[in-house]
Amino acid sequence: MKMFDLTGKVAIVTGGNGGIGLGMARGLAEAGAQVVLSGRNQAKGDKAAAELGHGAIFIAADVTKKADCAALVEAVAARLGRIDILINNAGIAIRKAPQDITEVEWHRVMDTNMTSAFLMSQLVYPHMVAAGGGKVINIGSVMSLFAASHTAPYASSKGAIMQFTKATAAAWAKDGIQCNCVLPGWIDTELTVAAREQVVGLNEMILARTSAGRWGKPEDLAGIAVFLASPASDFVTGAAIPCDGGYMARG
Ligand code: NDP
Repeated sequence: MKMFDLTGKVAIVTGGNGGIGLGMARGLAEAGAQVVLSGRNQAKGDKAAAELGHGAIFIAADVTKKADCAALVEAVAARLGRIDILINNAGIAIRKAPQDITEVEWHRVMDTNMTSAFLMSQLVYPHMVAAGGGKVINIGSVMSLFAASHTAPYASSKGAIMQFTKATAAAWAKDGIQCNCVLPGWIDTELTVAAREQVVGLNEMILARTSAGRWGKPEDLAGIAVFLASPASDFVTGAAIPCDGGYMARG
């Protein structure tokens, strides 16, 4: 369908070499986009790009480093000539009680999950303006709205990225750039595998509270990525949209 067609569009997905990022990238590639996966791990990235097909490429970048972010954006613009879609997806979690979090750990989470989105958005902005518009998709979490005892930096970063989305949406609507935030529920990835194994009762709580009755899979995020990257969402901006199997609808 033309409304969801991404033919000719160039997309960057940070943290696109695995998990949710790769699930979203798969949706974009199948809708016709030229996808650039990024992440730190070159071997994982090359494997992911090969598996994805559709001409996808991997360019390594550590999003906590401004120089890496700039080099990534410059390389994509030089190689592919334009940037239309950015998914700020790279993320980590450090699970500790607030009183035990070190300053280094705090900044690591904030730099990876939030400051990277600021840097990448700022860097792609002129390219999107030059292309006549664009789509920025930020990855929040149910922790953008809720929190738990061991999630102080993570929940703070995810609350912040949701608010950052609204600010950029307000600023860049005049440029034809829509910015939205996806709030995934509990998705089975490398990020959640440890929590699932270590936190007593977590798996049962998630299965009970998620109306769909199961953990999400990375592919469950493909559809919302295509929607928010395509002309179908041209009048949707500044939104924070759950993709959580009904987790947040339930008390
Ligand atoms: P994964 O651990 O599977 O993937 C995280 C990705 O981020 C990896 O591809 C990793 O690549 C990349 N990454 C981490 N640090 C950096 C860095 N400094 N620079 C560049 N890339 C980096 O986790 P998920 O797929 O689960 O998470 C993806 C996003 O979704 C995160 O923002 C997470 O907070 C969010 N989310 C996840 C949920 C879940 O239940 N899984 C729920 C809600 C939100 P590499 O190692 O190569 O750097």
